[in-house]
Amino acid sequence: MSVIGVLRETAAGERRVALTPDVARRLSDRGVKVLVETGAGRMSFFDDAAYTAAVVVTRDEIYAGSDVLLCVRRPDDLAAARPGQILVGLLGLDPNGLNGVTAISLDRLPRTLSRAQAMDALTSQANVAGYKAALIAAEACPGFFPMLMTAAGTTRPAQVLVLGAGVAGLQAIATARRLGDQVTGYDVRDAARADIASTGAAVLDVAAPSAEAAGGYARDLTEDEAGAQSQGLAAAIPRFDVVITTAKVPGAPAPLLVPAAALAAMRPGSVVIDLAAGNVAGSVAGARTLTGNEVTVIGAPDLASTVPVAASTAYARNLLALLTHLMPHGEPQLDLDDEITRAVLLSDREGARP
Ligand code: NAD
Repeated sequence: MSVIGVLRETAAGERRVALTPDVARRLSDRGVKVLVETGAGRMSFFDDAAYTAAVVVTRDEIYAGSDVLLCVRRPDDLAAARPGQILVGLLGLDPNGLNGVTAISLDRLPRTLSRAQAMDALTSQANVAGYKAALIAAEACPGFFPMLMTAAGTTRPAQVLVLGAGVAGLQAIATARRLGDQVTGYDVRDAARADIASTGAAVLDVAAPSAEAAGGYARDLTEDEAGAQSQGLAAAIPRFDVVITTAKVPGAPAPLLVPAAALAAMRPGSVVIDLAAGNVAGSVAGARTLTGNEVTVIGAPDLASTVPVAASTAYARNLLALLTHLMPHGEPQLDLDDEITRAVLLSDREGARP
């Protein structure tokens, strides 16, 4: 019988857990033994006692007794893992420092394959982050989000701009609209602009070409394209009370979309939230800063962890789908002829995979 071990997260501030009690039960029902590290689910409000279908053990016992290790983010003590042991998580794209474990990284999932969609942890976590970004914006905004008609008069709805309309951006747009804002979205990809329009939000028109690369992702803009985009955005941004940025380009730094000059032109009390860690000048990950003209800038690259029940529940279901694929008969079978398995394998005993 295969043994799956669930590690407690070691990254500072990380509140998610890789497996929920419900998914632990489903794995156990399939004949897999599940070990859970003491306290692994505590920050997601899943007590040790809730894992009734698993055995709660120490970290040393997890490393010693598991065939497959589950985590959300890369553990900081992989020296304790055995070469050849399988580690599954959002391990990033760097194949180094994995101590000979067979590393399966959900960051490498081929997301456009329909049979991979149930495993798509990048999407499930970005969805949570986009939702939370809209709530943080509402809390930080000094005015109402919706239009309110009261005996004391009518308030205008907040004007919200969302830059980058992938998974997180579209969820931020949808959530902000539910809160009653007037929402405008912008993306460099034509397909994403169509997605913005389909939510009922306005689409910001910036004179820049569609910049789509393979796999539905954006490509890095040329210097001229970035200049044209920057000019268009700089003219538009000061009209908004809230700007939420989510723009990323695979393999490149997040593009700067709100430079210092655009921040300086915003009204005092405006709020800018940077989910991409790099879209907004001067944003500091995990911190709120105030510009000289009293614009609040919030650096928020790890929002999924701040909604740990929803994020862990979705992540655990993604893992269940992936494990069902990798362990069709209860034992790990890494079939490198399979497109999904080949893609997610980041490194093995011999080192990095192509
Ligand atoms: P992401 O996090 O890589 O980027 C977020 C958004 O930023 C993207 O929409 C991108 O176009 C945009 N962006 C990049 N540079 C920009 C710039 N200079 N200005 C404005 N916007 C910019 O994206 P994601 O949310 O992970 O998803 C990207 C795409 O991947 C999806 O839209 C889709 O095409 C594809 N995807 C497909 C599936 C599926 O088929 N099931 C699932 C998830 C994602």
